[in-house]
Amino acid sequence: MMRRFMAALLMACLLLPAVAAGEAQEAARKVVYLTFDDGPKKDTPELLALLKELDVPATFFLMGLSVRAFPEYAKMIVDAGYAVGCHSMSHSYNRLKESTDYVARDIERFIQEMRTYTDPEFTTDLYRFPGGSTSYSSKTKTFVRDQGYAWFDWNAMTGDAQYTFDSDREMLEYTLGQLEGKDVIILLMHESKVRTRRILPDLVAYFRENGYEFRMLSTQAEDREILKGCSANMMLPDEE
Ligand SMILES: [Zn+2]
Repeated sequence: MMRRFMAALLMACLLLPAVAAGEAQEAARKVVYLTFDDGPKKDTPELLALLKELDVPATFFLMGLSVRAFPEYAKMIVDAGYAVGCHSMSHSYNRLKESTDYVARDIERFIQEMRTYTDPEFTTDLYRFPGGSTSYSSKTKTFVRDQGYAWFDWNAMTGDAQYTFDSDREMLEYTLGQLEGKDVIILLMHESKVRTRRILPDLVAYFRENGYEFRMLSTQAEDREILKGCSANMMLPDEE
C-alpha cells in the first residue's frame, strides 16, 4: 500500500513539471508580423520577389495615391495573397487630425482606389495611422475602431524612415536590439528602402532561429489571442 502511494507520489512529481513546462511553452508562443508601409513604390516587385524567396507572409499598409500611381503593383500585392491595410490616401496627417468626417472619407476613397485598380471586391478591416497613432486624438482613434477597422502601430522597426545608418550591419543591430524579450512583434518597415531589403534575410533567419512564426495581421480569433501579448499600440473592433 505504502509502496503504491510512493509510486503515485513519484509519478505526480514527475508529471507536474512536464505540465508546467507545457503551459510555459504555450504562453511563450512567438510570432512576428512583418509590415511594410507607404507603398506601392517603383520597386515593389523586388520586395515581393524577396518575400517569396524567403517564404514569409507580410502585411502591406498602402496609400491610395500610390495605388493610383502603381496600380499594377498594388494588384500584384493583392493577387499574391498578402494582407493589405489602409494607410490613408496621401499620408497628410494634418488633414486627418482635423476631423473624423475627413478620416471616414479618406478611408472610403482608399477602398475605392483599391477596388478600381486591384479587385472590385476588395475589402479590408486593417488600418495604420500615417506617422503612427500617438499624434492622433483618442476620439479619432476610437472613431476608426468604431468604423470597423483594427488599427495597429508597431513595437519594433528597422528605422528605415527615421534614421540614416552608415551600414547594413548598423541597421541590423539597431533592429535586433529592440527584439529581446518580445514574444509578439509587429515590425515596422517601409517599401522602397534598399537597406531594409538587404537586411531582411538576416532578420528572417533570426526570427526562425529564435522560434518565431510569421503571420499576417488580421482580426481573426487566433490573431486576437496572439496580439493580446503584443506591446504595440492597437485597437481592434469587437468580434462579430
Ligand atoms: Zn507611413
